[in-house]
Amino acid sequence: MAHLLIIEDDDLLRDGLTDLLKQSAHTVCNSADGLSAQSLLQEQVIDAVILDLGLPQLDGMSLLRWIRQRFESLPVMILTAREGINDRVEGLLAGADDYLTKPFNNAELTARVQALLRRARLPAFNAEVRPVTSPDDSQCLQIDSQLPRAWIFGQPIELTQREWELLRLLQQHINQVVSREDVATVWQSDAAEPSASNALEVYIHRLRRKLSGSGLNIRNIRGLGYMLEPQ
Ligand code: CA
Repeated sequence: MAHLLIIEDDDLLRDGLTDLLKQSAHTVCNSADGLSAQSLLQEQVIDAVILDLGLPQLDGMSLLRWIRQRFESLPVMILTAREGINDRVEGLLAGADDYLTKPFNNAELTARVQALLRRARLPAFNAEVRPVTSPDDSQCLQIDSQLPRAWIFGQPIELTQREWELLRLLQQHINQVVSREDVATVWQSDAAEPSASNALEVYIHRLRRKLSGSGLNIRNIRGLGYMLEPQ
């Protein structure tokens, strides 16, 4: 059971989402605008956020940036309109962990919220794997096995949960091709979904920037996938 925050200004949709997630045995609070959502986030311990982007007072994208500055690892799923591909890309770049397009299927929404919570809690179920306790500044890239953290020559880089999962997968297969399907398996997403390939490109782009100075690069292997390799 988790404590979820739904931020959605459409009354019907907000009530529907609240009922739906309560049925999945979660506790749910909600707000209809960005400012009251900020208050709730400061007052309560929230496990995950479902965030509509078009909101009155403080829009969803600004709220997402605000959330990322304060609650770095809080899982956030954004809700966007079907035609809003730019919104989805911008949302992922601003640090959303997942997104769902309106109108959505209730079962899919519930499953994605579960996956979001599962990924966020993964470290707790992985106790036999030792985390990196002190980063080694002689290593070009060190990735924590438990927490979404990594270091380049001992300097920490900030990673979201999904970025960390992708980077770990690439490092485990260094100098080998990682396919979109491999990534989808790790992310528990659907590789056949057209939006999934856009999302992956956004994440690869973000990781390339974060890897600058590491001596490692992520190469696009046309038609096959991506490969982490020394530059
Ligand atoms: Ca809206």
